[in-house]
Amino acid sequence: MTTENRPVVTVVGGGLAGCEAAVGLARRGYPVRLIEMRGVRKTEAHQTDELGELVCTNSFKSEDPGNAHGELKREMRLLGSVLLTAADRTKVPAGSALAVDRGLFARAMAEAVAAYPEIEVVREEVTEIPEGPTIIATGPLTSDALSQSIQRALGDEGLAFFDAIAPILHRDSLDESIVFEAGRFEESGDYLNCPMNEEEYDTFIEALKAGDVYDGKDWENVPYFEGCLPIEVMASRGHDTLRFGPMKPIGLTDPRTGKRPWAVVQLRREDRAGQMWNMVGFQTRLRRGVQRDVITAIPGLQDAEFLRWGSIHRNTYLNHPQRLTAHGSLQDRPDVIFAGQLTGVEGYTESAGSGIFAALNMDRILRGEAPITAPTTTMLGGLQRFLREASPKHFQPMNSNWGLVDPLNERIRDKRQKRARMGERALDHFLDWMEEHRIEKQVPVDSLPGRREARDAAEGRTIRTDGAAASPDPASADEPGPPTEPASTAPSG
Ligand SMILES: Cc1cc2nc3c(=O)[nH]c(=O)nc-3n(C[C@H](O)[C@H](O)[C@H](O)COP(=O)(O)OP(=O)(O)OC[C@H]3O[C@@H](n4cnc5c(N)ncnc54)[C@H](O)[C@@H]3O)c2cc1C
Repeated sequence: MTTENRPVVTVVGGGLAGCEAAVGLARRGYPVRLIEMRGVRKTEAHQTDELGELVCTNSFKSEDPGNAHGELKREMRLLGSVLLTAADRTKVPAGSALAVDRGLFARAMAEAVAAYPEIEVVREEVTEIPEGPTIIATGPLTSDALSQSIQRALGDEGLAFFDAIAPILHRDSLDESIVFEAGRFEESGDYLNCPMNEEEYDTFIEALKAGDVYDGKDWENVPYFEGCLPIEVMASRGHDTLRFGPMKPIGLTDPRTGKRPWAVVQLRREDRAGQMWNMVGFQTRLRRGVQRDVITAIPGLQDAEFLRWGSIHRNTYLNHPQRLTAHGSLQDRPDVIFAGQLTGVEGYTESAGSGIFAALNMDRILRGEAPITAPTTTMLGGLQRFLREASPKHFQPMNSNWGLVDPLNERIRDKRQKRARMGERALDHFLDWMEEHRIEKQVPVDSLPGRREARDAAEGRTIRTDGAAASPDPASADEPGPPTEPASTAPSG
């Protein structure tokens, strides 16, 4: 395709989202100025000047299509993800997860960008939102000067510099015989409550105090706000601090006993379909294995499925639901589109997926067409819905998980079968949506995990070649998704 008559698009940030966006635009024939500051200015976490450097783990999590991360990858492969192509070229054995040799991967990303003469890579720090069509993908470590410029455009509440995340649990995994619906003083029944007696509370506090905490690098050491302290810090301040804080039982009656519990863990709805429940006031830096142990000891949460882990870390991100349009642009400049972790998605692959969409929508806008998002039965569409509809007041970054996606119309008890069905539906709907919008498939459908095995089985070939057992837990094939905890071996939601 020729670049004649197409405007130059500026992409700020040569990380995972920025590389995807730049290549996505070049493929559509746009001349691109990809501006990356490393080379003239470092970030606190990157070690090299390479485009697409992975700052932490070398894993992109599961490829299993019944796993939320696996489904995300299938959709991104159809859209021609540069990250996944580079990962395929540089992968190392990791069971059903996709892990890479990080040095080779960074080089493969740089080569993917260099393959397009339309892309000019410029090394400088951008300090103001540029004029003209622009994609801003400067990530969780956006430089101070640009952060200030974004903050001026969005207002004080528009940009956060730290996140303090409480775990999110799947409703299906809560024990309905113990957890009860009620608001304090019967104000509203919008909360779920896990009641504790005195002994259970005492044990819980001791476990919290003994729990191992992720201690980040110096620059990650977050100044805690008094109104938003980690639960383990509150527990260390006094035995009853939590019972008089987020775990206060006042105004609540346990229907099983007819009495007020000694303490209560409350869960607040995170999505309209009521699949994702946020543990109120439970922001934490406990290591994931410890989080699992401590939280599953809470009455009613013994089988809890973690859709997102608690964490607290340095992270620059925008209040997407409040300040950006559905396709992630400034309200008054639809051709200034944000992408990557900065938009409130969390994770390498999620960030790259957001970069792919930024390019797709920039092209549509520049051709005078309306921007689009994917259906909410798909993983990319579920994430996009979260970004536009989440509560602005409680907005915190989100990774892919099945709680983001519309529930099935049928009831399937077996969790693994249910996820597999959701994955198949997601893929079908994604393909329909691509066809509706005349988006060309970048890989054949039967090359995708799930479809590939079905094709091979139909042709009488071996189904799996890596010998990896499919994981019974949709998250358990994953490496953890730091930044919270780079070295943990606990599974991720
Ligand atoms: C320390 C840390 C560890 C993480 N670990 C993981 C993990 O293990 N797994 C996971 O899934 N996610 C992890 N994340 C979260 C996230 O997925 C990654 O940060 C991911 O790289 C985000 O992609 P991105 O493209 O949005 O940003 P980045 O990949 O960070 O790319 C942004 C780019 O913009 C550049 N930039 C910044 N400001 C400017 C400016 N003013 N002008 C020009 N260029 C600029 C930066 O140098 C950088 O190259 C981690 C984040 C951090 C901070």
